[in-house]
Amino acid sequence: MGLERWIGQWPVYRQLTGPDRLGRGKAAESPRSAALGPRTDRADRVADSVCPYCAVGCAQRVYAKDDRVIQIEGNPDSPISRGRLCPKGETN
Ligand code: SF4
Repeated sequence: MGLERWIGQWPVYRQLTGPDRLGRGKAAESPRSAALGPRTDRADRVADSVCPYCAVGCAQRVYAKDDRVIQIEGNPDSPISRGRLCPKGETN
């Protein structure tokens, strides 16, 4: 591996020399992180639900794969919670 290529792999070098000056995009990306994707992409079913923890009743989307829940997120279609869940609702 050449020195220039080796230095080019440093995120701070890419941040200082590339267009991603804040280091929030491509400059901070590694081969491993570039291959990552949201786990909701792996879901084979999505069910609408309601958080059971309090009386607010925030709407949820429950993502499942092979009949197992893999992720719960807020439902942006809900006029009550508009896609948001509190920490309690996020972890149930
Ligand atoms: S997400 Fe939080 S605020 Fe919303 S219903 Fe669940 S516990 Fe209540």
